[in-house]
Amino acid sequence: MPSTLALSLPAKGAPFTPTTIQRRPLRENDVRIDIRFCGVCHTDLHFGHDDWGGTLFPLVPGHEITGVVSEVGEAVTEFEVGDRVGVGCMVNSCGECAPCASGEEQYCTEGFVKTYSAVDHDGTVTAGGYSQSIVVVDRFVLRIPDELELAGAAPLLCAGVTVYSPLRHWHAGPGMKVGVLGMGGLGHLGVKIAAAMGAEVTLLGRSAEKKNDALSFGAARFVNTRESAELAAFAGHFDLIVNTVPARLDQDAYLGLLGLGGTLVNVGAPGDPVASYNVFSLLGARRSIAGSSIGGIGETQDMLDFCAKHQITSEIEVISADRVPEAWENLSGARYRYVIDIATLGTP
Ligand code: NAP
Ligand code: ZN
Repeated sequence: MPSTLALSLPAKGAPFTPTTIQRRPLRENDVRIDIRFCGVCHTDLHFGHDDWGGTLFPLVPGHEITGVVSEVGEAVTEFEVGDRVGVGCMVNSCGECAPCASGEEQYCTEGFVKTYSAVDHDGTVTAGGYSQSIVVVDRFVLRIPDELELAGAAPLLCAGVTVYSPLRHWHAGPGMKVGVLGMGGLGHLGVKIAAAMGAEVTLLGRSAEKKNDALSFGAARFVNTRESAELAAFAGHFDLIVNTVPARLDQDAYLGLLGLGGTLVNVGAPGDPVASYNVFSLLGARRSIAGSSIGGIGETQDMLDFCAKHQITSEIEVISADRVPEAWENLSGARYRYVIDIATLGTP
């Protein structure tokens, strides 16, 4: 079986170890990809720390993958060697349930197969993009538009689509007031994408030093969530708030910022339950509290094409593979996404 170099966590709490892993021989619908860049998503840390339980070790994280096709199976018609492609959080799904049939594979009733730490339909355990190559069935491979460079496009594959999907679902656009809560990898793309959709965007964040960046990404304003008086001034203001924070939050405080019929959609996914809410925070203005998971494959391609049209890529700091442990220690220091240059992994 073809082998490839990877960065692996042998067990919870163990340090990253360069290792060799096997990728399957190509099946007729498979695409082999030489990985060039992989984003470091906060979800990688949740898995590495086993925050959600059930992580399969050894773990090769990484689901913000861009690269170049190096080989295709004989039945592949959509991709050829040399194509610039990406892979996000999913590498398989049942393909038959109602969500799969409607292009929402992320809500597959059998559970989609995650790019890492999952058992694929053939019984093998998936391994992600902190590695030099990956083999993925063609219907889970995305095309990277020519306008987007591969490093800055990598975080779009998870962070980008995770904010794009709820913004589309709740119809972000002109006349709509959107709050983005937390400005890390997801949040900064949320600001850029919601602004490009034409919404009035407010960054709700605890880090005042990010204010000018938020404005440059298209936010109309920055509101400091540590300042209760600043928050209070926006009571009832928003139609939609996208919460990207990976920690427990006072949901009532943010529900109170929504106007009539507004929605607080949680995409941040802390391990412990998000704080409970008071039902009166909802019924006084017919508000909703919701969640959203990444996006479907078709929607991910739409998002990439949208980003190409609006010249949106992630703000990135490219790091070498040996700096991954340091990046994990200091993820909130990223402006705004660490992206691993996979060429620095070495030679097999
Ligand atoms: P990130 O880059 O670490 O950014 C998170 C941001 O949230 C920080 O930059 C900070 O922004 C704010 N924040 C962090 N800790 C906080 C705290 N204790 N209290 C208040 N604010 C805090 O993380 P990310 O990669 O964007 O991921 C964010 C979350 O989304 C993670 O839980 C991840 O697992 C989840 N996620 C979910 C999906 C999905 O499908 N739903 C997909 C991908 C990721 P400020 O400094 O601006 O406050
Ligand atoms: Zn992710």
